[in-house]
Amino acid sequence: NDRLITPDASGDDEAIDRAIRPRRLTDYIGQPAVREQMDIFVHAARGRSEALDHTLIFGPPGLGKTTLAHIIANEMGVSMRQTSGPVLDKPGDLAALLTNLEPHDVLFVDEIHRLSAVVEEVLYPAMEDFQIDIMIGEGPAARSIKLDLPPFTLVGATTRAGLLTSPLRDRFGIVQRLEYYNVADLTGIVKRSAHLLNLSIDETGCREIAGRARGTPRIANRLLRRVRDYAEVRADGHISGEVAHAAMELLNVDRNGFDEQDRRLLLAIMEKFDGGPVGLDSVAAAIGEERGTIEDVVEPYLIQQGYLMRTPRGRMATRNAWLHFGLNPPSQPDT
Ligand code: ADP
Repeated sequence: NDRLITPDASGDDEAIDRAIRPRRLTDYIGQPAVREQMDIFVHAARGRSEALDHTLIFGPPGLGKTTLAHIIANEMGVSMRQTSGPVLDKPGDLAALLTNLEPHDVLFVDEIHRLSAVVEEVLYPAMEDFQIDIMIGEGPAARSIKLDLPPFTLVGATTRAGLLTSPLRDRFGIVQRLEYYNVADLTGIVKRSAHLLNLSIDETGCREIAGRARGTPRIANRLLRRVRDYAEVRADGHISGEVAHAAMELLNVDRNGFDEQDRRLLLAIMEKFDGGPVGLDSVAAAIGEERGTIEDVVEPYLIQQGYLMRTPRGRMATRNAWLHFGLNPPSQPDT
């Protein structure tokens, strides 16, 4: 069941995903500030017949960065090309993508913090002046030529804005940060997906799933698909609160939506470091996880939910964390 509640996309069903992915800003549930701002920026750019300013979207996996990039292209009425930082390893690959864009198109670069330095160098003048310098020929005959590009919108996605070099970050005119979704918004997402998949589900069924989705739409949709399986085989297909609850118990999904990494992190802090404070590097070593993954993917949810604290002396498990695992909190107050 660990795969059930990981926020990464492995194990998703692509056909289903396409059917339920929101295509318009009005279908994008939650993130009210992001939605309102993007609505204004898109309308303004369209009104001036310009490309939308370059847009950076950051937030943990599964919160809707790719979806938002698609929506931006749809709302602008343009096409979107998609690539990712680690895939674009040669400047020529980027040049080929850029020179094939139509005016105002969106180029979506996922994991943009993983671009190589040479590719980033090509990107700067492309973003700023819609121009690229490319080298042709080799040896003494090699020369560089300037190519004009159509005005385009770069949409970059990353788990944390701080991972980008500052010259790259500074070239984005719009920066949006996605937050974990609350249960009400996730309930709405489950309801919408169930409707598009023609499932029979009631409000408590939706809420039961939403509460275990780790604040993440991708996980909510994945849990819905598994609960559907359960409802079809063990019940009459209808997803009531009871059926959803029984399915999640069977699937062994944590009632707070914790995944394996969440549990390992909290348990290590409580069992090996007496609840902390403990430095990030020590915890990372104790659970064999990369520091960056803990900071970008694991911790933010636990902090937002009140299970973990970041203090000047390190990470600390809160009283809620001890209680969640049925452990006795240390007698000293958590200060
Ligand atoms: P990311 O790129 O941040 O990893 P995605 O954009 O791929 O996340 O979103 C994961 C899934 O969650 C998508 O299949 C999409 O259907 C769903 N989703 C994401 N954000 C929303 C939202 N605001 N409203 C409804 N569904 C969403």
